[in-house]
Amino acid sequence: MNRRSIFASLLASTAALAQQVKNASRFNQPTGYSDTPIIPFQRWKVHDIDRPNPPVVTPAAVAGGAPSDAIVLFDGKSLSHWTFAGKKDKPAMNWKLSNGYMEVNPGAGDARTKESFGDMQLHLEWSSPTEISGDSQWRANSGVLLMGKYEIQVLDSYNNPTYADGQAGAVYGQYPPLVNAVRKPGEWNVYDIIWEAPKFNGKDLVKPAFVSVILNGIVVQHRKEVIGRMSHRVVGTYEAHEAELPLGLQDHDVPVRYRNIWARRLTL
Ligand code: MG
Repeated sequence: MNRRSIFASLLASTAALAQQVKNASRFNQPTGYSDTPIIPFQRWKVHDIDRPNPPVVTPAAVAGGAPSDAIVLFDGKSLSHWTFAGKKDKPAMNWKLSNGYMEVNPGAGDARTKESFGDMQLHLEWSSPTEISGDSQWRANSGVLLMGKYEIQVLDSYNNPTYADGQAGAVYGQYPPLVNAVRKPGEWNVYDIIWEAPKFNGKDLVKPAFVSVILNGIVVQHRKEVIGRMSHRVVGTYEAHEAELPLGLQDHDVPVRYRNIWARRLTL
């Protein structure tokens, strides 16, 4: 072996040693620290080794599908999670179930989940009739009634002039959507809603509700403070109620369709 090859061999073994040291530092990392400062307004330190890890949730195989911890409220096949409120002068009846969707059966009353919810994430899809009838608030009016009281408006807002706080994506009577992102009649619109339920102490409101709404992937409400329950032509107010209540879908006498409805309970 000549001097040059000895030198090359030395260089190679030094590089290998350096790579080993690098690998060791990459693969023997601590899983947390206990000598770091407390994060302001929290009980945990920065990278706290004792901080519990979040639970594992398996996402759906397709976008918009129910993740592993979701409560599937409507899978297109059964109305078993729902009751129907009925209307005074009409016999009790269900909404229409057909081809993977449930449709408002005018006169059947609001659909209500058998299960009650407080803080929640809600996903649902809705579509307005292709046969356009009525205008303004009579064109495909329905609504997502959070806790049965606080309405995110469902409406055919496609080329349909109406008041701003009554458009699809509005917190009805309170906040117009940031943009009009609704699809044409007959196409499916997607709502993803994050709901923080109001908190009461006896009859007193301790914390108002907050709501965020994404319509067709577009933010239309960002953590808006809800003023009170849904009301028409007056300012809605709060009246103390249970911590959890059923979710509602509004029967406004128009055959609006819903599908792929799932919820996740949130601990906020
Ligand atoms: Mg409505």
